Amino acid sequence: MIISEIAASLYPWDLADEGMEHIADELIERCKVNSLYLVGIMHYEKRPLTSLFYTHNSVRKFYLPENSRVYYRLDERNFKDTCLKPHYSEREFLRNIDWLDVLTKEARKRGVKAGIELSHTIYDTNIAYEQYPQMLQRNVKGNIINGSQGLLCSNNPDVHEYQRAMFYDSVKNHDVDFIQTCLLTFAQGNIIKAPWFYNTWMDINCANLGALLGIANGGCFCDSCRAKAKEWGFDWELILRDMSVLYEVANATAHRFQDSLMENNLTLGSNVTEAMLLLEYPGLAEFLKFRIRSITELFKDIYISVHEANPNIDFRYNNYVHFPEYTGISFKDIAPYVDSVRDSDYTEQTGAKDDFRYKHNTLLKIRRGIGFNKKIIAALAVRPNATPEIIKRSVSVLGELGIDGFSLGHYDGSHIEHLDAFREAIDAIHCKIQK
Ligand SMILES: [Zn+2]
Repeated sequence: MIISEIAASLYPWDLADEGMEHIADELIERCKVNSLYLVGIMHYEKRPLTSLFYTHNSVRKFYLPENSRVYYRLDERNFKDTCLKPHYSEREFLRNIDWLDVLTKEARKRGVKAGIELSHTIYDTNIAYEQYPQMLQRNVKGNIINGSQGLLCSNNPDVHEYQRAMFYDSVKNHDVDFIQTCLLTFAQGNIIKAPWFYNTWMDINCANLGALLGIANGGCFCDSCRAKAKEWGFDWELILRDMSVLYEVANATAHRFQDSLMENNLTLGSNVTEAMLLLEYPGLAEFLKFRIRSITELFKDIYISVHEANPNIDFRYNNYVHFPEYTGISFKDIAPYVDSVRDSDYTEQTGAKDDFRYKHNTLLKIRRGIGFNKKIIAALAVRPNATPEIIKRSVSVLGELGIDGFSLGHYDGSHIEHLDAFREAIDAIHCKIQK
């Protein structure tokens, strides 16, 4: 197979603890990595994520990052049109160092690509909850979704401009080849499950319908969304009417929204389809379309801005959800506004019980959406719970799916034997790297 890239992600504290030179040695020599990128804004998340302890970090056993801090310098003049300003790390060993520069300098020295990832949340939601509650996504009842762990709404003009400026500035003021994001878009709500007693005599699988119904708990119904929907000619009253009904159906119990309880049980316990739900509730279809148009507009603004900053930049969306269209992401719609897509499926670390069927189908879904002129970079897990055998099988499955590159997730928690297994696997399928 012919690919153009083998990428690996790094966190600022990895660089501080292990040293950029040592990490580059490990990844380039063991795995033929030709693309290194920094997770330059990171949300709350224990590292390593999927195992208790680091396996090759001699400084610490685990790390708990701050909420949505930036680990490289930005030019605040680029944020003049938004009231939101970047917040930098306050930890002594990380602050006042431009970790993106540390990474890009080493990458250039080695002749490999350099990139930056802006992760799920790029602004501290605790601060937003205290100071700018109007910027957080709201459900159909007008309540902030998930409180201080909620999501900013990119239809709010200050949020939209902050997000655009963050991407623009990161590219304008740093020597990067690509900018990647797994930005949290619209809250998709929880997957609504069928009543427990159905399981006793029926073999039902409502995962898709339950996810669609779960959007009733998602967002956004803030003032900015209402204004934008009306400006674009969406029937907001129809959306509100149908989503309010579905909110009660989704959340009905014997104690709450009793009148909708049987509708809940019969919807989730029967084999009614998602198509039927969309036909019965046209406001639901409108709501999905409105969210997709909103996110497409955001991607378009970011895409134009980063290419203005550097015409050769690769803007990469990092897919992380099972149902992208339920978060406002439609691959066909965003296709003109991305240069590549990374799919962050980590089946390997769960034992690949489906023999990579989900990973396989997701990659085909992305290809169907973005076409053949954009690149797909497939992630795989080199973390604990994977095994060398699973990694080899994964690479051999991926080798037949027309992907353009691999991305190792993630160096911080990787086992060295897994890095070596990856190298053996790509050699076994005669993987050639062409720029
Ligand atoms: Zn909103």
